[in-house]
Amino acid sequence: MTERSPPPRIHWPASVSRPVATPIFPSVAYAAGGPDELDAQYEGRTEGWTYSREGHPNAAVLADRLAALEGAPNPGTVTASGMAALTAVMMALLEKGDHVVGGDQLYGRCLVMLSEELPRLGIGVTLADPTDAAAIRGAIRPETRLVLIEVVSNPTLRIADVAGIAAACREAGALLVLDNTFTTPAGFAPFEAGADVVIHSVTKLLAGHSDAMLGWACAADPEIAARIARTAITLGLTPSPFDCWLAERGLHSFPLRFERASSTAGALADRLAELPGVRRVLYPGRADHPDSGRAAALLRSGGNMVSFEVGGGRPAAQALVEGAAGIPFAPTLGDVATVLSHPATSSHRALTEEGRAALGITEGFFRVSVGLEEEGPLLDAFEGAVRAAAAAAT
Ligand SMILES: *Cc1c(COP(=O)(O)O)cnc(C)c1O
Repeated sequence: MTERSPPPRIHWPASVSRPVATPIFPSVAYAAGGPDELDAQYEGRTEGWTYSREGHPNAAVLADRLAALEGAPNPGTVTASGMAALTAVMMALLEKGDHVVGGDQLYGRCLVMLSEELPRLGIGVTLADPTDAAAIRGAIRPETRLVLIEVVSNPTLRIADVAGIAAACREAGALLVLDNTFTTPAGFAPFEAGADVVIHSVTKLLAGHSDAMLGWACAADPEIAARIARTAITLGLTPSPFDCWLAERGLHSFPLRFERASSTAGALADRLAELPGVRRVLYPGRADHPDSGRAAALLRSGGNMVSFEVGGGRPAAQALVEGAAGIPFAPTLGDVATVLSHPATSSHRALTEEGRAALGITEGFFRVSVGLEEEGPLLDAFEGAVRAAAAAAT
């Protein structure tokens, strides 16, 4: 782009040096040099921004970084939340009469989109167990346009048969859409595994500080990628520059944070498994995990999420939370701080007790998103919490 002086409202201080950190560009509109320049921009002969819903520098910088982390063939589209990324994908790819297959233990809001919003628009949905590729294959119909899965289910941390599902999708001509939020690019490589479209809630581990809500959607096929980008712009799903800036800042430390949190999570799982009050521990890095073989084959890391169960019903659950000194009881994940959540009263409260029981989610079932605290004191805090639960149970 030709160098030109900025429009008269902005008086940039002259500088021959450049900032080392990405500046924030909150501007909603960008002034152009005239109709000829706008033509050149819209026709792709030159580069430039026009209106921030259509794109802005902070989203572009973040998209490039996310694509590099995922080994994606194009930058994809940054959206205002993880749900906005899923909305952009669904609205870009589906029409009335299409059918979608979804994993039956997806993130709660994704399940709501599949079971309530898509059917309202005349799109059929079947949910099936992604740990069983034959079940997913059996749910696919001639009109199935896409299959949406996560690799590690929430909160029971079961591992999907990604290879089997990718093969079933290829055979049926359905797109495999993979939500890599839980596993992260450091734990799982979705494009290598055959995903056609990858989505993220950037809000979680990637941004990592619970202060920015964002998503990302990226299709390997450039035409599909362009369609998703256009839909996100038209439906207004695009993100704020400041959130993109925060997420980019968070991303710099993502690999280190994930490594540290995963290492502590493995140690926490081992400590919990030794405690008398703990009935079971679910951690993909442990040999006693129900899908340990698949976890070892698919995942580059056990991840930062640990689930466990204590006995004693609600009184023990209440005592555990109260006894977990300094650990926030909050329904999120991927923060720098460890947080504890109770699926029966949060993510899975809409289910019946029998529905929860079928998933193994009892009153004593907890999910932990491990953060960056020092390992020793954190493990001690959990030991104290489990002891408090055991005392309340007797
Ligand atoms: C949080 C989450 C989402 C939704 O993302 P938001 O940024 O909260 O909209 C989608 N999928 C998974 C697996 C999540 O954990």
